[in-house]
Amino acid sequence: MARRKYVVGNWKMNGLRAALGEAEAIFAAARGHAAVDVALCPPFTLIGAMAATGGSVGGQDCHAQASGAFTGSVSAPMLADAGARLVIVGHSERREGFGETNADVKAKAEAALAAGLAVILCVGESRAVRESGGAIDHVLKQVRESLPDDFERAALAIAYEPIWAIGTGLVPTTEDVAAMHGSIRAALSERIGAGAAEVRILYGGSVTGDNAAELLGAGDVDGALVGGASLTAAKFVPIVEAAGMLG
Ligand code: PEP
Repeated sequence: MARRKYVVGNWKMNGLRAALGEAEAIFAAARGHAAVDVALCPPFTLIGAMAATGGSVGGQDCHAQASGAFTGSVSAPMLADAGARLVIVGHSERREGFGETNADVKAKAEAALAAGLAVILCVGESRAVRESGGAIDHVLKQVRESLPDDFERAALAIAYEPIWAIGTGLVPTTEDVAAMHGSIRAALSERIGAGAAEVRILYGGSVTGDNAAELLGAGDVDGALVGGASLTAAKFVPIVEAAGMLG
């Protein structure tokens, strides 16, 4: 089945209200590419205002509980209440910097789906794992252990993000990307059968306007999760355009 291309920006801990104009410009340009789904994930503080522009907006993390004594945390129902439609879970900066396990990521994904949010579930290997030859095994273990027990195919996307490619300017070969995405889809098939064909698998890690067409054209790549190049319309819109050419 044909999967719509999906291009998602992760603003990480960047962006004050003054940056909302960039989001407006991105969403305006995205409306010219009807075959591409575009979303931005700003810091929590900008979700409400960015959602008010009419674009698709998401969180970068959520707590696994809906409410309670968890100072500083934000729950999935809170994200939805603020206007978010999706949330990223399991980003390597959360797994590595905050000690999130596959079980934590699974619980967050399940909480998000229960709150009506779509999920982008991130997986990816370190440089050491890649160099040891164990990247596919490592990533498939993350996929198997982080996936919710039950999920609507259209509500969940997987983002393959090699940690060594994030923010470094390094990218895997298209052959390596296609091999990893194909392996992820095969693991999905083992779990959910033919429905695996409906799950989008995004690539993330130093995607730019210059390399987007090649990366998005690799086998089983259904879109991109973009960090640094998502902060301005000038850098992000060319990635959306590349997806539009392929969509
Ligand atoms: C990310 O952090 O999800 C990411 C892909 O970052 P960058 O595009 O900056 O490598």
